Amino acid sequence: MSAKIVAIISVAVNLFLSVGKLLAGFSTGSVAIMADGIHSSLDIVSSVVSYWGIQTSSKGASVPTEIVFVKNVIQRLFIRGVFHALRLNVQNADSR
Ligand SMILES: [Zn+2]
Repeated sequence: MSAKIVAIISVAVNLFLSVGKLLAGFSTGSVAIMADGIHSSLDIVSSVVSYWGIQTSSKGASVPTEIVFVKNVIQRLFIRGVFHALRLNVQNADSR
C-alpha cells in the first residue's frame, strides 16, 4: 500500500471518528467526548498535511518552505497545548 493511500485512509478514518465523536458528544452533552471529537478534528489537519507532504515529495521537490512553516506552527500549537493543559491542572489543583 502506498504512502498516499495510507494518508487518504487516515484522513477518512479521522473524519469518520471526529463526526461520530462530535455527534455523540453534543447529543449526550459529554464535554469529554466533545473534546475528543475536537482532538480527532485536529488529527484530520495533520493527516491532510501528511498527504500534502507525501504528494509534494513524490514530485521530487526539496522540502518547501510552506511545509516547514506548517510543521513549526503545529509544534508551537502542541507545546502551547501542553502548557495550557498543565496550567489548567494547576488551577484545578488550587481550587481543590
Ligand atoms: Zn490524535
